[in-house]
Amino acid sequence: MKRKIYNRLFATATLAIVVTLLLTVAVCYNLLKKQVLEDSRHYAQMAAGLLEGAEDIEKSLAPLTGENGAQDIRITVIDHEGEVLYDSWVQADSLPNHKSRPEVQETFIKGSGFEIRRSATLDENTYYYAMRLKDGTVLRVAREADSIYKVMEYAVPYLLLIVAGLLVVCGIVSYYLAEGIIRPIRQIAESGGETGEISSYEEMKPFIEAIRKQQNDVLENARLRQEFTANVSHELKTPLTAISGYAELVENGMVAEEGEVRRFCGEIHKNAGRLLVLINDVIRLSELDDSENQEAMEPVNLFECAKNCVDMLQLNAEKHGVTLMVDGVNVVISANRQMVDEVLYNLCDNAIRYNKEKGSVSVIVEDRLNMAVLTVKDTGIGIPREHQERIFERFYRVDKSRSKSTGGTGLGLAIVKHILLKLNAEIELKSEPGEGTEITVTFPAIREARFRQPS
Ligand code: ADP
Repeated sequence: MKRKIYNRLFATATLAIVVTLLLTVAVCYNLLKKQVLEDSRHYAQMAAGLLEGAEDIEKSLAPLTGENGAQDIRITVIDHEGEVLYDSWVQADSLPNHKSRPEVQETFIKGSGFEIRRSATLDENTYYYAMRLKDGTVLRVAREADSIYKVMEYAVPYLLLIVAGLLVVCGIVSYYLAEGIIRPIRQIAESGGETGEISSYEEMKPFIEAIRKQQNDVLENARLRQEFTANVSHELKTPLTAISGYAELVENGMVAEEGEVRRFCGEIHKNAGRLLVLINDVIRLSELDDSENQEAMEPVNLFECAKNCVDMLQLNAEKHGVTLMVDGVNVVISANRQMVDEVLYNLCDNAIRYNKEKGSVSVIVEDRLNMAVLTVKDTGIGIPREHQERIFERFYRVDKSRSKSTGGTGLGLAIVKHILLKLNAEIELKSEPGEGTEITVTFPAIREARFRQPS
């Protein structure tokens, strides 16, 4: 990248230098042209002054064309027919008629004319300036001057020297500029994310901020993963230790009575069941974590799912001495049936497990504007305010022993949160310790008539 920036800066500077120098040469050449024309005009005016009322052209022009005059200037006098009356360099009668010369023609029309003609060699140009005198004759001044090629030829060695000098300066400046642009980026890479100390441009700040955020996210994810692994191992250890202990006792014949053997086997069975539930929840969470694993969406009648769930949990509720009821209207949402069942099951199961004797759980499905609203309300033990934020975290439990004794894994609400994120649904929790908990989930509803069913 540095090489690229350097090359581009250098190329831009080189182009700018070359173009500037060429333009400078062109401007100088134009100035030269102007100067020669101006000089020629002055000369012509001086000559015209000398010729005024004079009889002998050669004599009158002697101050200009004689030994003390300018030798590089040629003066020609032409009559109104184009015939050459006098020429300071050549015998006049040896010259052809000048009527067709552009500067002479222009003078016949406008009173004065100017023309540059390339000489036989490319090096020089002849500049002609002509003006009409009072008696109708034309006075022409001719002068040789360097052509643009000659000017270039003079200038090229100096130009090359200047270009070489400037290129060296540009090379050095480009190097430091490229280095200056790259330095903060390199510092970010070398600092391993410690971007706090890096002094850089204002425009780089969002970039640094994004990297910092990404790094924090990566660190946070790593921390959560590590914590999760430690928690899973710990959670697996307890039932496995129990299973191993009971099995060892039975194996060593330490349990004499048949009733005891049955009890121990029952314990092994219960703990194995807990293990299975836990492993299933962990697998489910990792499936939901996998962003590539997209479950198919379909129209799902939320009320029907709620009724099924309540039917399924009715016996469980009775066992806990809790009344479980369902009410509401048919509302169709775009979801995955299994996911909706999981949400309902986890919320209702919690509402039963964290309830009181003779308590109740009501499941309500409502159709509000464009939303399908599911409310699971219980009259249970409630959740203290300081825990309310955290109960959706993995393995977070308010009362660990109660959760475990009722078969909880601490993962139910984490699964619910994940699923709701995938279904674009929102969850809201209201809870009062000792009075009960109300969890409201809002799904976007499908409004198409073909999915609406009579309530
Ligand atoms: P668990 O398997 O322990 O029930 P969850 O993720 O389902 O795990 O719930 C996390 C914690 O939130 C529970 O341990 C419990 O302390 C609390 N909780 C969840 N639902 C309720 C509820 N309806 N009433 C009171 N506490 C609840």
